[in-house]
Amino acid sequence: MSRPRIVVSRCLGFEACRYNGEMVEADWLEELQSRADVVPVCPEVLAGLGIPREPINLYLKDGHLYVIQDETCLDVTVALERASDDFLSKQDNVDAFVLKSKSPSCGLGTTKIWLDDSLYIASGVFAQKAMEKYGDTVFIDESGLAEEGVEAFLKRV
Ligand code: SF4
Repeated sequence: MSRPRIVVSRCLGFEACRYNGEMVEADWLEELQSRADVVPVCPEVLAGLGIPREPINLYLKDGHLYVIQDETCLDVTVALERASDDFLSKQDNVDAFVLKSKSPSCGLGTTKIWLDDSLYIASGVFAQKAMEKYGDTVFIDESGLAEEGVEAFLKRV
């Protein structure tokens, strides 16, 4: 049986590429890498945002989702969308995604989005695009994977 191909948020155990220059410990990564071909990605770094960087936030306005770096007043919507599309277009087959929760890019139903003066929770820009392209694959975030365990997760992939 061929090894599954799994895209993983790069800040989960690969590189300290979060906005604050930190990495998230991922004690499941070694086991996952021993049993699957793992492809790390950081959409924000691919979009040209540095490490560390001012955080970005999502705003829904007139039906459009905007990605704004509030501290710098930069609109990085197009850069993040292009970087996400570009990465996803180069992936021939993906069996699963393991993405960082709550991120404006990678969050799976855990990301804060501003709508006028209120907040609601949805998915980040990269996660939304990945789900559009790979709707049939398995999506999980790091806390879900830690809870489920690599063995049970791979049975679903
Ligand atoms: S959550 Fe996604 S965009 Fe943010 S640092 Fe991790 S890999 Fe990069």
